[in-house]
Amino acid sequence: MTAPVDSSPLNIVILTTEAVPFAKTGGLADVCGSLPQQLAQRGHKVTVIMPAFRQVFSAGQTIEPTEHNVSVAIAGKTVNARLLKSHLPGDQCEVLLIDQPSYYDREQLYGDAQGDFWDNCERFTFFCRAALSAIDTLDSPPDVVHCNDWQTGLIPAYIANRFESHPWMDHVATIMTIHNMAYQGQFWHWDMLLNGLGWDQFTPDKMEFYGHLNLLKTGLVFADSITTVSQRYAEEIQQPEFGCGLDGVLRNRHQVLSGIVNGVDYQIWDPATDEHLDAHYGIDDWKAGKRANRSALRQEMGLEDNPEIPLIGLIGRLADQKGWDLVTEMMNNWLGEGSPVQWVVLGTGDHRYHQTLSDLASRYSKRLAVHLGFSDRLAHRIEAASDMFLMPSRYEPCGLNQLYSLRYGTVPIVNPTGGLSDTVTDANEETVRLQTATGFHMSHYNARSLGETLDRAVTTYRENPGVWDQIVATGMQQDWSWQQSATRYEQIYLETIDRLHGAAVG
Ligand code: ADP
Repeated sequence: MTAPVDSSPLNIVILTTEAVPFAKTGGLADVCGSLPQQLAQRGHKVTVIMPAFRQVFSAGQTIEPTEHNVSVAIAGKTVNARLLKSHLPGDQCEVLLIDQPSYYDREQLYGDAQGDFWDNCERFTFFCRAALSAIDTLDSPPDVVHCNDWQTGLIPAYIANRFESHPWMDHVATIMTIHNMAYQGQFWHWDMLLNGLGWDQFTPDKMEFYGHLNLLKTGLVFADSITTVSQRYAEEIQQPEFGCGLDGVLRNRHQVLSGIVNGVDYQIWDPATDEHLDAHYGIDDWKAGKRANRSALRQEMGLEDNPEIPLIGLIGRLADQKGWDLVTEMMNNWLGEGSPVQWVVLGTGDHRYHQTLSDLASRYSKRLAVHLGFSDRLAHRIEAASDMFLMPSRYEPCGLNQLYSLRYGTVPIVNPTGGLSDTVTDANEETVRLQTATGFHMSHYNARSLGETLDRAVTTYRENPGVWDQIVATGMQQDWSWQQSATRYEQIYLETIDRLHGAAVG
């Protein structure tokens, strides 16, 4: 165990709606599954609090009752929840689960085919208020409460306003992490009645956003420090193009805003040990390893096993954010008989992309295999089998799949925005000479540029194998492990505590 530098251990509470292995729809879950364990390994006491969604009961972790129940007056009724407890794998971090089946025992976390659940504001307001009571039950008061995304945005407001006077609120530092600015938790103004904070908080400098209640904004206004998941995204979201209406709020708070790239859990994402692969490999035998995994995946997905043709992988939410509009537009030119590539796609999301991708897959079954669903196993297998990985996101706060791709020797082709810009180095004359290239950057966000960039990558693959091998090897050697990122979070916690302490003394 590594002790934190120059500080005594902190008591850290992490509030989230997702954490691997309990519940996951995206990168938030990877972060909240890994960061707590890294912090615990540095000697801190870390407790994760999350809703007891239906999914958590099939996560394979032991779940036990506690002696505590919580009770919240909300929407004209009193709602109770059992407080359950479990642990993240490794048993170093306790997980407290707020168990109220009427809110959380549903097929999905946030919505269904019809859209977001109608009572999301109530579900997550309840979660925040119940979490305050859950924190009361801890053996010692928290030094830091670290909130993630809009679902937890009320917590900094409750703490800043000393809501219900929980004694630990006087000394705690609040951190708000933005995983994606586009999801803000915006509701009609009458939902203010759910949170009990009072109409005096419903003003444009606090919780109101053009007549609506905005829970992400609430968190950003009241938190002591704000982080987001890459340095570049921290800059981008202060601009109107990426700030989704909250760029002004962030510019106002730029002095307490920082970017920390997400790490990778190499215990889970390492081709040398990955339990989902047919063949394990590392930097010395990646060609043979990839060949074996590629053959196996092609067979599994019904693609022709032609070793001459590179395989391109795509994994992710089928949402506009991820650039599927460009992918489906340019793919038409890359699927015919003579196409120099094959595609394998894994994703779930917008109906229209399900439709387009299914249509393309049935027309071009030799060149394109599509799995429309969520499959962790397949995600690992695609990373290992593919030669290239496409991530043409319109915006990307951090992005994880490009980091997994690097480690799996799968060359990322990306739109250089947010974390994609911070973590993938474009192969140009200079970076190839310096042997620092790890992937390919699009020059513009459009289908034509995506096609040109893919062409550049495929040409390098076919005509310049020496350069290709170098790009793969450099990528595989990158270290995006959690250690560094966890140290940065620790620094932010300590700086924030110092600032608050200084303010209290001053
Ligand atoms: P975001 O959080 O915006 O969805 P990230 O790249 O940060 O995107 O994280 C996405 C995570 O979810 C990655 O771990 C990725 O492998 C995983 N993922 C996304 N879609 C699927 C899917 N259909 N099946 C399995 N894993 C998926």
